[in-house]
Amino acid sequence: MLTDYHVHLRPDDLESTPAAEFFTQANVDRYLEAAARAGISELGVSEHIHRFVDALEIWDHEFWQEQARDDLAAYCEFVRSTNLRLGIEMDFVPGREDRIANLLDAHDFDYVVGSVHFVGEGAVDHHAFDVWSSQTDPDRLWSQYFETLAGAARSGLYDILAHPDLIKYWGGRRPEPTRDPRFHYEPAIEAIAESGVAVEVSTAGYRKPVAELYPADAFAEMCVDAGACFALSSDAHVPEDVGHRFDDAVATMRGWGVSEIAVFEGRQRRLEPIG
Ligand SMILES: [Zn+2]
Ligand SMILES: [Zn+2]
Repeated sequence: MLTDYHVHLRPDDLESTPAAEFFTQANVDRYLEAAARAGISELGVSEHIHRFVDALEIWDHEFWQEQARDDLAAYCEFVRSTNLRLGIEMDFVPGREDRIANLLDAHDFDYVVGSVHFVGEGAVDHHAFDVWSSQTDPDRLWSQYFETLAGAARSGLYDILAHPDLIKYWGGRRPEPTRDPRFHYEPAIEAIAESGVAVEVSTAGYRKPVAELYPADAFAEMCVDAGACFALSSDAHVPEDVGHRFDDAVATMRGWGVSEIAVFEGRQRRLEPIG
């Protein structure tokens, strides 16, 4: 079986992507056709929480304030009228766990994708609010990122941990840590093992400056040793990227010794043979 759960129905550009134009059956059909061509039997969407006004109940970061325009209940209702699984990409905001839980409980998601896009107020994968403009020690930043990811895992709020080593997003365009990355991964792996959250294998990394799969081999191998399970996604923002380089991802996963992927419905998880 192949799934693609971490998929967006529109690009991130705010001004050119109003909900009325992208949350439509015609647009969904383009995604479903792309999924069928890629042999993906279960397609789900997970819009960014920050595109919804509801997100401001959780966090008032300047980026969220400028992005929050749409109605979350309307999105959920629309997705439920299609053949898509219903997900959401929900940032982990440390200290706001209760507010996040309240928002998640109010909707009937099939799964919740947990992301760490910010360390403190700084963005990990975004030019605006770039965390690297205020933080110059890569080892300190990598540690903070994976500590935050550990918090996300331990919160119990999420079914899937998205792009788990997103901190490598910029590749050689930002300073590399001097310590073995495994040292930085360790707290997150421990939390993943304790929580049982599924770890996302995301082919989005191939399309980013780092130009490699999320997560790195070493991270994945530590997850395998810890008994973690994996979910597979493209993080597509256009139909053409649905199932992007899944052949490479599946071959890589088999190399890690992974033979099953996590499948979700109504926030219940089962494992299915991959491929
Ligand atoms: Zn993300
Ligand atoms: Zn995403």
